[in-house]
Formats: sequence, structure tokens, C-alpha cells
Amino acid sequence: VLILAIETSCDETSVAVIKDGSEVLSNIISSQIETHRAFGGVVPEVASRKHVEVITLVIEEALAAAGVEPQQLTAVAVTQGPGLVGALLVGVVAAKSLALAWGKPLIGTHHIAGHIYANRLVKELQYPCMTLVVSGGHTELVNMEREGEFRIIGRTRDDAVGEAYDKVARALGFPYPGGPHVDRLAREAEEAVPLPRVWLEPDSYDFSFSGLKSAVLNVVNQSKMKGLTPDVAGIARGFQESVVEVLVEKAVRAVKACEAKQLLLCGGVAANKGLREALIARCDREKIELIIPPPVYCTDNAAMIGAAAYVKWVHDGDTPLDMVADPGLSLEKWSVAAY
Ligand code: ATP
Ligand code: MG
Ligand code: FE
Repeated sequence: VLILAIETSCDETSVAVIKDGSEVLSNIISSQIETHRAFGGVVPEVASRKHVEVITLVIEEALAAAGVEPQQLTAVAVTQGPGLVGALLVGVVAAKSLALAWGKPLIGTHHIAGHIYANRLVKELQYPCMTLVVSGGHTELVNMEREGEFRIIGRTRDDAVGEAYDKVARALGFPYPGGPHVDRLAREAEEAVPLPRVWLEPDSYDFSFSGLKSAVLNVVNQSKMKGLTPDVAGIARGFQESVVEVLVEKAVRAVKACEAKQLLLCGGVAANKGLREALIARCDREKIELIIPPPVYCTDNAAMIGAAAYVKWVHDGDTPLDMVADPGLSLEKWSVAAY
């Protein structure tokens, strides 16, 4: 099964060709980060326009790099949601046009299911499995009893982790996207500035990061008011330690509670070295099998969309051509219907 997958939910235009949902024949990513940096974040209208400019070229490149002719494809997959509506539309319109022109079925795909199934590009999944999703817009613990069946057992009540990283980075004087800067600083710091951990109710798998973000802003402002330079590295380390401690603890607790056979990590923040190291060490001690995709499959890419699309297609077949981009598409509702 050869799937051409298209991802345009945010600020990456990406197209991949995937064999049987696990073998990446090509994965072309055209990032708009440079364009958006000047604005300190992603500007939706600018993102849509950039997608339109490059999408045809990226599709051609993906086919060429894979050495695949359109006729050889089994289906065309595309991120249907969630994401920026204007950005999603570009991918959805392109995918529908190609499906029609080539006479191939269409597979509408969930962006977060894509992030989760990025792990299938690394290793065969065993169910039940637990996933810690840490991206720019999502922070969730997702339990999967079976292939393609998603149940969210914990989610952030305010900011997503990536969002908190980006806001903290901005307060510390770093450009968008700030996550990698905070990650690097945290490892350079000699000492952590003490910051709170937010656990919520004792039995809760939910997260909250806005209080932590405010605490960081307070520390920065207090230093400035005293005429001192804030201890940027120490703050980054304190922030990262707080985030990582809570994420690791709740993920491990969720694995045990759901008797998961594997713990999967995904989303842009899965590229965070501090988080990766802490999870690896903890899972090693607890004898939990942990899968973490390489960084290129953690941030937005189309290969992960192809992996999720394959699973959906095997169980539910294709998506009607009249489907529409859905910025609020629910992960749980996107679960395979066949069970
Ligand atoms: P979503 O998938 O929820 O729609 P998104 O696609 O915008 O959101 P991703 O591309 O998965 O998010 O991840 C981007 C986020 O990852 C940004 O917030 C960025 O700062 C963060 N990030 C990337 N690398 C690191 C890192 N090393 N440490 C911390 N955060 C990081
Ligand atoms: Mg992005
Ligand atoms: Fe994403």
C-alpha cells in the first residue's frame, strides 16, 4: 500500500510517500519558520499564502524523491484537522484535486493521530499503549486499547507545553519558536531557579502550565525592577525541570493504571533533550518500553500523517470526497469505526 500524504495544518508544508504505513520513501518538509519569526509567532493568513506558493512543488519533490509515479499510489491522505482553517484548506483542496485527477481514494487524517503514529515509523506498536502528546497546541495522555482507538485520559487545562515553552522563551528574550532555546539554556545552567510544580488533584492526569509561566514572568520582572539581569539560564532550567517532572510522573502513572505495554512520546516538544533523557531514565528503571521518534518525526511532517492514514484506511476504508477541513476535529471521534 503506497500512500501520498499531505500536511499543512500549521506552518510546515510537508508531503511524504509511505509504504504500508511504516516505511518512509520520502518526507519533504518546507518550513515557514523564517517567515513567521519576524512576527514572533505563526500568522494564519501568511501561513495559508505560503502553503499555496509551495504545495505543488513539494508534492512533485516527494514523488520524485520516492521514485514513485502517481499511478502506483494506493491513496492520497491529508490532514483534515485540527489546525489553522486556512492552512488546512490548502492541503485538503490539493489532496481532493489529486485524488480526483488520479482516480485514487482520499483519506482524511487527524493531525494528533499523525503525531501519535509517528511512533509506528520507528517500531511496531503493541496495544494497549499510552501516548504522551506534547506539541505546540496539545498536551494530552492518550490511551489506545486497540489500533486506531483513541481515548484522552488527561489534557492541559490551559496552555499546551510547547506554547508555555514559546512564551517563556519570549520572556527570556529568545525568538520564535523558543522551545529549543530554553532546552539548550536549561542544560547550560549551573543551578535551577526554584519554580512550582502543578500537580492538580491527586488522581488527575490533567496538566496546567499557565501558573508556571506566570511564575517565570514574575521572576523575570522582579529582577528587572531591582535593576538586575535575570538569571536566564537558571530560569530556563527551573522551568524545564518543573515541566519534565510533572510530565514524566503523570505519564508513568498512566502507563501503570492502564496496563499499557508501551509508552509513546510525540509532538514537537518530544524533541526536548531534557524530557527525552528523563523519560528514558525513568522508563529504564520502571521496565517500561518507551518509544520516541527521531526529532524530524516529532515536529510537523507528512510521514506521520501517512502512518496514521494507513491505520485508518485498513479499518475504515477511504473518506468521501465531500469531506471538509475541520479545525476542531476530535481525536476520539476519529477513532476507527470498525470496532
Ligand atoms: P499541534 O501539533 O498541537 O497542532 P504544532 O504542530 O504547532 O501544534 P509541533 O510542530 O508539534 O506543534 O511542535 C512545535 C512546538 O514544539 C513549538 O512550541 C516548539 O517551541 C516546541 N519545541 C520544538 N523543539 C523543542 C525543544 N527542544 N524543547 C521544547 N520545545 C520544543
Ligand atoms: Mg510547526
Ligand atoms: Fe503538530
